[in-house]
Amino acid sequence: MSAALQIEELSVRYGDSVAVDQVSLTMQPGECLAILGANGAGKSSLAAAIARVVTSTTGSIIIDGQEVSAWSAHRLVRSGVAYLPEQRAIFPGLLVEENLRLAVRRMTRDHRRSAIEDAFDLFPVLRDRREQTAATLSGGEQQMLALASALVTHPKLLVCDELSLGLAPVIVDIVYGALNRAREAGLTIVLIEQYVDKALGIADNALIMRRGRQVWAGAADAARDTVAQQYLGST
Ligand code: ATP
Repeated sequence: MSAALQIEELSVRYGDSVAVDQVSLTMQPGECLAILGANGAGKSSLAAAIARVVTSTTGSIIIDGQEVSAWSAHRLVRSGVAYLPEQRAIFPGLLVEENLRLAVRRMTRDHRRSAIEDAFDLFPVLRDRREQTAATLSGGEQQMLALASALVTHPKLLVCDELSLGLAPVIVDIVYGALNRAREAGLTIVLIEQYVDKALGIADNALIMRRGRQVWAGAADAARDTVAQQYLGST
């Protein structure tokens, strides 16, 4: 079986500065990998490079056996890679239901209807808000809409950047509950997080970055016990 994601010596440059420096990793299907590190460590750049939103990269990105490092971000989305950037990926001027309809537009009519109901079952508050524009939702509800829009497409790989950023703890629990159910259903997830305990609570493995480099990789349990404290103090 192909690895779900294989990265070899991936670097990201912004002009002369190197944000990600020769990172390599392999993920098996169904694995959840937490990418941890202090501010500026390069986590968001790595996530954006996997999603092909940042293209100033060298190295190799293989998803499900296919080399994608020259693909457009759109082609990657169509192949089943969902990316939730730090800025919530919703259409603020559209209604909640219109956002979901856009997410499922490539499905058949019957599947579209049931996928939207699945989204409402996942986060019932979205059902109550279906006729509201997304801009009028709270930050937590917007994040639920972004996550639901990604999950209902049944991606083969989900890349989440700072899902919990700015959310109240009770909302973080709801969002992570949904993510954990998706993980249990077999979704492969790359999780960028500042909220280390939350990420390691659902991750199988962890990779710790510092100044663009990977400084540690291993099981999430081991990261929780010792390594996070050692590496996450500063960039
Ligand atoms: P944070 O948690 O603060 O988002 P991070 O670990 O995700 O940090 P990145 O956002 O990937 O780190 O940033 C890595 C480095 O790249 C930083 O030094 C940052 O200033 C720089 N950087 C990020 N985006 C850009 C950009 N568009 N142009 C130039 N430099 C950038």
